[in-house]
Amino acid sequence: MFYVKEALKDGVDVTVEINDENVFCRCPVCGKEIPVDLESILKEGDGDLFGTAVLCDECAKGWMKNHGKKSET
Ligand SMILES: [Zn+2]
Repeated sequence: MFYVKEALKDGVDVTVEINDENVFCRCPVCGKEIPVDLESILKEGDGDLFGTAVLCDECAKGWMKNHGKKSET
C-alpha cells in the first residue's frame, strides 16, 4: 500500500494509508476541495503529481468551453 507519513513533534509519526477516498486536491481556479481519483490520474496523466492540476467540475466546464474540448468521462 501507499501511505503518507508526516512527522509530528516528539518523534511521533502519523501514517495515513492512501486509498481512493482520502486523496484530495484544491482546484487551482476557485480553491474548492476536490476528491481525486489517483488511479485515473496515474493512468491518464503523466504521473507527475506536482505538475498535475485537477479542476473542479464547474471550472473544468469553463475551461473546456474556453478551449473547445470535450471530456471523455
Ligand atoms: Zn474550481
